[in-house]
Amino acid sequence: MITRSGGRSSPSTCSTRAAWRLAAGPWRSASATARRSASTLSTDAPARASAAVLDDPTKAFVARYALGRLATHFGVAHTFNRTPVGIYFGEPGKAVPDPYFGGAGPQRTGCKRCGACMVGCREGAKNTLVKNYLWFAERKGVEIIPDCEVTDIRPLGAADGSLGYEVDTVRPGAWLRRGSRTITAKGVVVAAGALGTNRLLAGCKLRGSLPRISDRLGHLVRTNSESLLGVTFPDDRLAPWKDVAISASFHPDPDTHIEFVTYGRHGDFMSNLTTLLTGKGTRVTRPAEALAAGEPRVSSCGGLP
Ligand SMILES: Cc1cc2nc3c(=O)[nH]c(=O)nc-3n(C[C@H](O)[C@H](O)[C@H](O)COP(=O)(O)OP(=O)(O)OC[C@H]3O[C@@H](n4cnc5c(N)ncnc54)[C@H](O)[C@@H]3O)c2cc1C
Ligand code: SF4
Repeated sequence: MITRSGGRSSPSTCSTRAAWRLAAGPWRSASATARRSASTLSTDAPARASAAVLDDPTKAFVARYALGRLATHFGVAHTFNRTPVGIYFGEPGKAVPDPYFGGAGPQRTGCKRCGACMVGCREGAKNTLVKNYLWFAERKGVEIIPDCEVTDIRPLGAADGSLGYEVDTVRPGAWLRRGSRTITAKGVVVAAGALGTNRLLAGCKLRGSLPRISDRLGHLVRTNSESLLGVTFPDDRLAPWKDVAISASFHPDPDTHIEFVTYGRHGDFMSNLTTLLTGKGTRVTRPAEALAAGEPRVSSCGGLP
């Protein structure tokens, strides 16, 4: 089990820094709208009421039950919430015609609660980009070129890009036959993720291909401020992975958001990254304390009976 803290749905401001405060307003309303539309698409509706989860006599979903108990332990059970997720919760394993877009989308399969959503859904239950935006984009004539990494972007002729751009690409990871090609485009939208976008644009600026890019590039890059904590359950038969990857969360204080994340039944390789929390100390004393404690794993079950 991995709990983590982050600000995605924190009730407080996203940051005290002025620039982030400015961004927080529109970001907050846009993300609330996106979350609403995701939950309209598909949620685990019958099981969403907090009380029902906390009182679940069968404890069928151990992870969320343990998290609920933990929230109760901290006196914040009222902040405990089921996570809205974009997953099709029909009959487990049964494929049905598209239930979302009037039949125009791809078929979906009922979620089997294997907990492997973080590494991609093998069943076809999770609502992914491939199953909504890209599915429809291709049918509307968009050509999607896979295995294609952009290495450079240059304006064609006019420096302001008014005449379009040249985009250099290669096959990512290839040492030989890199498949270099250049595509021309009237306009370019760079959406290569937080790190990929910054790296590509910084390269274009430094090489002089896009010299007009602002010097502020990369100044406000941040992660979503998560701390990952591994928690080992006392007995594998409790099957804490048996649910969707992120099923519930709570707020012990206005700035902290704790949620349970599982990588699925066979996803325990991550446990090799965990070690004992030893509290205060130095680089020398903390490893020594961990060794002295014997078992190099965090071991806690969040108050399970
Ligand atoms: C571990 C993890 C857990 C997360 N959990 C959640 C969650 O539970 N809920 C949530 O809402 N959000 C979550 N997020 C955040 C969410 O995944 C991101 O905000 C979202 O995916 C960003 O979408 P994007 O399209 O901007 O970028 P990405 O999804 O990162 O897509 C960028 C794409 O660009 C490609 N690319 C990069 N460089 C190049 C290049 N030079 N040329 C061509 N292609 C390139 C990349 O391969 C990638 O496919 C999580 C993120 C991480 C890393
Ligand atoms: S738990 Fe996640 S990965 Fe497993 S079937 Fe459901 S959506 Fe797919």
